[in-house]
Amino acid sequence: MQYDVSAPTRSVYIHWPFCPYKCHYCPFVALASHDSFMTQYHKALTKEIEQFGSLAGEKIQLDTLYFGGGTPSTYPNDLLIELFDTLKKVCVFTDQTEVTIEINPGTVREGQLELWKSLGINRLSIGVQSLNDKVLHSLNRLQSARDVITLLEKAQHFFSNISVDLILGLPGISDEEWESLLHTVVTWPIAHTSMYFLTIHEDTPLYFKVKSNAVVVPCDDKMVELYYKSRDIFIRNGFDHYEISSFARPGRQSRHNTAYWERVPYKAFGLGACSFDGTKRLQNEKNLMKYIKKAESGDDCVIFMEELTDHQVNIERIMLGLRRSKGVTWCSVSSHLSAHKKMVVREKIEEFKRKQWMNESEGVLTLTPAGLALENEIIVQLC
Ligand code: SF4
Repeated sequence: MQYDVSAPTRSVYIHWPFCPYKCHYCPFVALASHDSFMTQYHKALTKEIEQFGSLAGEKIQLDTLYFGGGTPSTYPNDLLIELFDTLKKVCVFTDQTEVTIEINPGTVREGQLELWKSLGINRLSIGVQSLNDKVLHSLNRLQSARDVITLLEKAQHFFSNISVDLILGLPGISDEEWESLLHTVVTWPIAHTSMYFLTIHEDTPLYFKVKSNAVVVPCDDKMVELYYKSRDIFIRNGFDHYEISSFARPGRQSRHNTAYWERVPYKAFGLGACSFDGTKRLQNEKNLMKYIKKAESGDDCVIFMEELTDHQVNIERIMLGLRRSKGVTWCSVSSHLSAHKKMVVREKIEEFKRKQWMNESEGVLTLTPAGLALENEIIVQLC
């Protein structure tokens, strides 16, 4: 189950699964109270990268590199330096390479911003989510508004490309408080923000609290109303709404995420990491000890591989196109369809246009703000 090393890979993802706490809404491969495994994991990770390098032969000409997690800001400094040494054996970095690290406020230690910059990291993605300490702590997210402000004050001296993540729909945040947060965020020295809807993932502590009515989350209509208002605030303050959850100052879109949406190959390393080589989607081992064992002994870490059918590829193209302001062409939507299916889909599109969920201009279909809020439903009906 191998990634095609001859694929024109330009993007790399590194997964760092360790977190100082486990947020109650988190569905990710993230481990709290496992810090004692960091060194062992790092060694396995470097082994996996070296192994890929020796199979590939040629170095990756790196366009984007992304450290995600987990909480990559907890990567110990000396080990991170070693990791970059390994990456440089396998990848060619240039001045243009976008190198992002996800960081959680409150986890950044003295001297780390300087170190990251010296290693070539040039973009920070900060998990702000909210400035309401009480609400965040009730969700076991142990950071404070003060942590966020202190971090931004320091980070702006080192990084001009900063993104912040926000969560819309957290329980206990009033409409007024949410709007006030956004009015604050747009004054920050940031180039980008990602605003995600709170999603209740099965088997998370939040899921059980919502199920037992211990916690009440906003209804869908309220979420949509807040989404419209939020979008307006960002646009009025000079951000482009270029993807369903993403807003950027002109020219400051996330190039790494764009690689995902463009369906170009990307290689991911680490626990549970997901790669795409242009035709296959692959996922690494999700059990920490099994991953370490496999990577250290040079075995293939992939546990899942899926080769997409033409139909699945088409659905992905439509889905990834419609979530972006760039949209998707009618040609690419219809090219794989039978004459009958083409007619059915065309009728749906005309219906969406009448409902003002979709626009069509010169053969390109895009979703209106109302359509973006209903994206999932629209995709299901189209596919
Ligand atoms: S910090 Fe992020 S990855 Fe870690 S538990 Fe919280 S949401 Fe999950």
